[in-house]
Amino acid sequence: MRPDTPADHTAEAERLLRTAAQYPEDVEHLLLQAAAHFELAGERERATTLYDDLLARPADATREASLIRALKAANLWEYGHEAEARAIIDGLRATAPRSPAPWVIIAESLESHDELQSAHEVFTEATTLLLTTPPTADRTPKETHPLLYGRHRVRRLLGLDHDAWDALADEIHPSPIPLDELHDPKRLWSLGSENPVELRAEIARLRAELGTYREALSRPFPVAVLHWPSTELTELLTAYPTLATEYPSHAEHLATIEASLRELAASGTPNLGVVTATVPSYEAFAASESTSPADPDLLPQYATTLAARGRATPWPPEGNCWCGSAQPYAECHGRPETL
Ligand SMILES: [Zn+2]
Ligand SMILES: [Zn+2]
Repeated sequence: MRPDTPADHTAEAERLLRTAAQYPEDVEHLLLQAAAHFELAGERERATTLYDDLLARPADATREASLIRALKAANLWEYGHEAEARAIIDGLRATAPRSPAPWVIIAESLESHDELQSAHEVFTEATTLLLTTPPTADRTPKETHPLLYGRHRVRRLLGLDHDAWDALADEIHPSPIPLDELHDPKRLWSLGSENPVELRAEIARLRAELGTYREALSRPFPVAVLHWPSTELTELLTAYPTLATEYPSHAEHLATIEASLRELAASGTPNLGVVTATVPSYEAFAASESTSPADPDLLPQYATTLAARGRATPWPPEGNCWCGSAQPYAECHGRPETL
């Protein structure tokens, strides 16, 4: 059900704006996603307006001001406001944000406008600021990986030799195609090849690269599965018995959640999570959509809305299981034989 056409993206952005009016506590998540949809629809002025609205909010309500400014700069540069974009980028570099996302966004913006030298400087500034030396895989948090991959890519385009950070990027990269092949500036020449074996290999490489790229782009769009805790599910089915067809038993419900998430992960869907449902919040959602809670079609929309409000916990969980059993995930629904 993901939007594909510009009109879909505009409609989704407008839906998220309506949701934001209902849930002021989640407004930052919702407006950031709405802005991403406006960008994908080509409605860049409307995205800028949302970034400005978010930046105009009181300082502690806007927890991720650096991220919003980085997104605003990247968006401005895409529709001819280069000078303003550069001023924001310079300002951000001077404030040295402590989270990787704003750095990645401004470096990629420079890179996409062929400013490879500046992009390299920004990636390097952020890497030395946020990562420990000497580089080791176990002291490199996942959210910093895009910094290392981006820096590796820009350095290949500049024809620089590998350094210790590049070696680390190669070590942590999960794709079946090595980064050195993905980022080889000469590799596109082989697309001119007449040899079908070379062409097939090249297409496989481009697919893998697209996967990595999509992962970066999909950051604002979490995919979440709905989880009803046992007492909430009992209350839901007592009030709306027709939903029993969706949820034959609580144990089965939990097994289905884990199975769906594993299937999504196997198909390459990034940014997965679980959202926890409650009967009162579901009823409020149904009321806001002017529908009955008994309508099963409402369930996926409710899950999407909770995720858009920033309520998803990432899957697979690092510690305890998502099901609330207070057991480690690896010993609960994370066991391979659970399914
Ligand atoms: Zn490499
Ligand atoms: Zn569990």
